[in-house]
Amino acid sequence: MSSTPAPDRYAVFGHPISHSKSPRIHSLFAQQTGQIIEYRAQDVLPEAFDANVKNFFASGGKGLNCTVPLKELAFQLAAANVTERALHAGAVNTLLLDSDGVLSGDNTDGAGLLRDLTANLKLNLNGKRLLLLGAGGASRGVILPLLQQHPARLVIANRTLEKAETLAKHFAEFGFIDASGFEGLAGQNFDLIINATSASLSDALPPLPSGLPAEGAGCYDLAYGMRPTAFVRWGQANGAAFSVDGLGMLVEQAAEAFYLWRGVRPDTRPVIDALENERKSG
Ligand code: NDP
Repeated sequence: MSSTPAPDRYAVFGHPISHSKSPRIHSLFAQQTGQIIEYRAQDVLPEAFDANVKNFFASGGKGLNCTVPLKELAFQLAAANVTERALHAGAVNTLLLDSDGVLSGDNTDGAGLLRDLTANLKLNLNGKRLLLLGAGGASRGVILPLLQQHPARLVIANRTLEKAETLAKHFAEFGFIDASGFEGLAGQNFDLIINATSASLSDALPPLPSGLPAEGAGCYDLAYGMRPTAFVRWGQANGAAFSVDGLGMLVEQAAEAFYLWRGVRPDTRPVIDALENERKSG
């Protein structure tokens, strides 16, 4: 008598984690591609992170995603074996065992944003003026892929100017990048404004001068929620041609992780559509 094989096990670790859409996204990917996997969300505190990762893989787990506040810890844990993009980001959101059984780390956030901007929203960033708000972990992870699109310039604006300056210095060899405080943005305009601050999570906004969006400009918030975020609403009120949140990036970074684990690239469009419909009816 043949028995069905046990599904390969995956999980996302974070704290808090109950809001996570990752189990839903990966189950839609698995259905679509015929992969037999189980994917769970697990609340893990920073101090218990290393032990939980070790237990997970020791008990046969195949791959992990790590989210707030664990990405830097995941980077440290896999430091000997991380990809170049994770190295530049200083953070890891995807862990797996390599062919020798050694823990390895990658960061798919930047690729996820880039795919949402270029494949889904059909933007060409070449020669464009980009403004990136915030200089935290997410910002650090998206700078290199943005510069690789050869924008005319990328300005990083942050409440704590010093952090923006540190990032601008780190990435200076990859393109035209400047640092600024928010007040220093007055009188400038941009073709794409990306919010990578965590202000939206408390429905707040950085203090942005008016007139920032150039004609035809877009606004993109890495944060996402059931309703338009404060920054998405700011873009709509300030004349942006489009103003969207980071749901597409979330699905795209997950697709990149799924590909690393399973070697199959899911079609993201129907998954983004399903999540958008779920939040409309939700
Ligand atoms: P961090 O805590 O590392 O950084 C937070 C940043 O936000 C800092 O630059 C901080 O400025 C700034 N900030 C916080 N509150 C305010 C405020 N009220 N006004 C102005 N600036 C503020 O967070 P992350 O970089 O990890 O995450 C940033 C956002 O990106 C979150 O909303 C997160 O949900 C989202 N994200 C979305 C992903 C997706 O797939 N869609 C993936 C990854 C992240 P300062 O340095 O001065 O403290």
